[in-house]
Amino acid sequence: MIQGVSASIMKIRMSHSIATVAVFAPVKRLFDYLIPDAHSPRLSPGMRVRVPFGRGCRIGLVVRRSARSKLDLDRLKPIEKVLDSQPLIGGEMLDFYTWVSTYYHCPIGELVATALPVRLRQGKPVATDKVVAVQLTEAGRQTPPEALKRARKQREILAYLQAGAASLSLEPMRERFTPLGASLKALVDKGYVEWLTRPPALATQFGGGLLTLHDEQLAAVRAILDGMNAYVPFLLDGITGSGKTEVYLRVIAHVLEQGRQAMVLVPEIGLTPQLVERFERRFGACLAVSHSAMSHGDRESAWRQAAEGRARILIGTRSAVFTPMPNLGLIIVDEEHDSSYKQQDGCRYSARDLAIVRARRCDCAVVLGSATPSFESLHNTQNGRYRHLRLTQRAAGAKPPRIRLLDARGLKSDQSLTRSFLEAMHKALDAGNQVLLFVNRRGYAPIWTCFDCNWIAECRRCDARMTVHLKQNLLWCHHCGLQQALPRRCPKCDGENLNPLGQGTQRSEETLRQLFPEVAVARIDRDSVRGKQKLEKTLAEIHKGKHSLLIGTQLLSKGHHFPNVTLVGMPDIDQGLFSVDFRATERLAQLIVQVSGRSGREEKKGEVLIQTRYPEHPMLHLLLEKGYAAFARQALRERREAGFPPFSHQVLLRASAISQGPPMAFLQEARDCLRDAGESSVEVWGPVVPPMEKRAGRFRAQLLLQSSSRGCLHSLLDAWLPKVEKLKLAHRVRWSVDVDPLDLY
Ligand code: ADP
Ligand code: ZN
Ligand code: ZN
Repeated sequence: MIQGVSASIMKIRMSHSIATVAVFAPVKRLFDYLIPDAHSPRLSPGMRVRVPFGRGCRIGLVVRRSARSKLDLDRLKPIEKVLDSQPLIGGEMLDFYTWVSTYYHCPIGELVATALPVRLRQGKPVATDKVVAVQLTEAGRQTPPEALKRARKQREILAYLQAGAASLSLEPMRERFTPLGASLKALVDKGYVEWLTRPPALATQFGGGLLTLHDEQLAAVRAILDGMNAYVPFLLDGITGSGKTEVYLRVIAHVLEQGRQAMVLVPEIGLTPQLVERFERRFGACLAVSHSAMSHGDRESAWRQAAEGRARILIGTRSAVFTPMPNLGLIIVDEEHDSSYKQQDGCRYSARDLAIVRARRCDCAVVLGSATPSFESLHNTQNGRYRHLRLTQRAAGAKPPRIRLLDARGLKSDQSLTRSFLEAMHKALDAGNQVLLFVNRRGYAPIWTCFDCNWIAECRRCDARMTVHLKQNLLWCHHCGLQQALPRRCPKCDGENLNPLGQGTQRSEETLRQLFPEVAVARIDRDSVRGKQKLEKTLAEIHKGKHSLLIGTQLLSKGHHFPNVTLVGMPDIDQGLFSVDFRATERLAQLIVQVSGRSGREEKKGEVLIQTRYPEHPMLHLLLEKGYAAFARQALRERREAGFPPFSHQVLLRASAISQGPPMAFLQEARDCLRDAGESSVEVWGPVVPPMEKRAGRFRAQLLLQSSSRGCLHSLLDAWLPKVEKLKLAHRVRWSVDVDPLDLY
């Protein structure tokens, strides 16, 4: 009898004895494995397993269990080890990952691996709960911080908790109060603060002083709340300082009150301490933060808190879009136009586009916010897919800055700033204000050249010039990272007349120190602020007014709020005016508007100076006289006529090899396969070599597919790529597919 029962259980088990696994390896397909009986009862989809793979073994994630395999059962290998006792990822997320891998044509195993925190990807056990947050006790609430006379750090932490949401996640606090541990422990020992292993129940009263929303904000908040609980995409189109973040905070509060979760995506360099602090003060320990500068352990902790529903808000960069959130009610994509949302290698997904897909799959609202919306999103408001919300006034009452174009044609070759530019700087500095100069190139100068024979230092691994880094005495290729000692003799004519040409941030800093010897100058670029702490330190100094002249790259163009900056200058924008990339002017316009937004954010009126050798350029005039919206309308009309995105969809097939011939030959063969697939509504361009053919020692070529119908393009891809994979040359080149590419070269 008992035997009979177990025999039938056996049969049931046998009937689902095959696990289909996404192996964490760059291979296209899923693999079937036998489930050993011992593991059979508890193995379910979403768990990690270790499986034999090739000559060794790999970690993978079980995607489904099934009764049959396309392969003979006796050819299947058994799973070696089951690594989880519970699924890490639910069925909906697995479906989402599968969709992503199909759409972007990237291997599912590689995608799942990208989506998981590093330690979990490596097969390490899920960490046990540790302290994730702290909360004020009643005693802590009642005690005035001044009572902690001699413990300055403890006093600061207590005051911070009392002013904010009374509970805070450890991770962001750790960044604010270093070192944190001893002071917190002292506060715990004194009974003012208690440890929490999970965030506290939601506070009904959120912390931080609540502002009265202005009319446009109110209208935006109402519209979004109306659209909640269903898939409704919004474009929140609001100038810098118009109060977009305040709108996010308000709608998130509603989502949390409904017991749901919110995801906030920010660009790579947009996750500033200032932004996190605003969220933290409002929502306390409901918040989890995830970005690439965090330790693996902290990122995993944030991931798990979100995945287990303990964290109610997740703020993170690009890859956070893959975090499971069981109760997701809202997705926000801040600065949605930012190109850092697009992953540029491996699985080339767009986190902004995936936010839309994910919102549709879980029926929730999604808000894309920007002062300079992408043309894609603007187009989607014009065709009715997104609802357009506008914030046109600066919230705190500040006036928009005045923008002036300065003609750079009169400049001598050793000058970088016109006289009017210098006068405006003197005026601002004399009035005790700060000046910010935006220079888009790090290093000393973009060119090192011989004045006798015109030799120019070029990278031997790329078709590109080497950048001069004078302080380190280096030539440095910003494309492949190659460095070499700065030559003092010309390799061509043996002369000694070698000189830098053009302006990088280091040279601008040097020039300004000479021109303004009595003024403190701070430079902010990737070289000057290696490491997050250094950046924060410099930013804090700027806020205290230690520096009056700030020079920076894009690092400074976003998110930072400097109330005393009244003059923002862009000494050289001409690169962006005449680029081969059809998106170049869109990017330049966004940059000008974003950089301008750094000027005059509070009661002081701001001014923006843009220096160019093409002061008559129609695009500049349209942008400066009519604003970004008018510029975008005009540029979108031109895109429509040219048939460029967003009026068409593109896929780029890239190939590279260490010799010059194979990439072109491979792409030509790939193009030949297309002829059989015969899809007349898809245009094919190329193969061509990009302007920089050689990069990091590899020769490159590319083939572009374009169609006004996304459906046609993708069904063609589905039929075509398997043929491409089988081409002989496919094994002699490195190749990749970029769906919806952002950079065409
Ligand atoms: P954005 O995200 O659009 O740049 P923010 O939300 O950061 O704008 O708001 C800019 C500034 O205006 C912030 O200092 C914010 O505190 C303030 N602010 C926002 N909304 C209001 C409001 N309704 N009343 C007063 N000040 C506001
Ligand atoms: Zn020479
Ligand atoms: Zn190089």
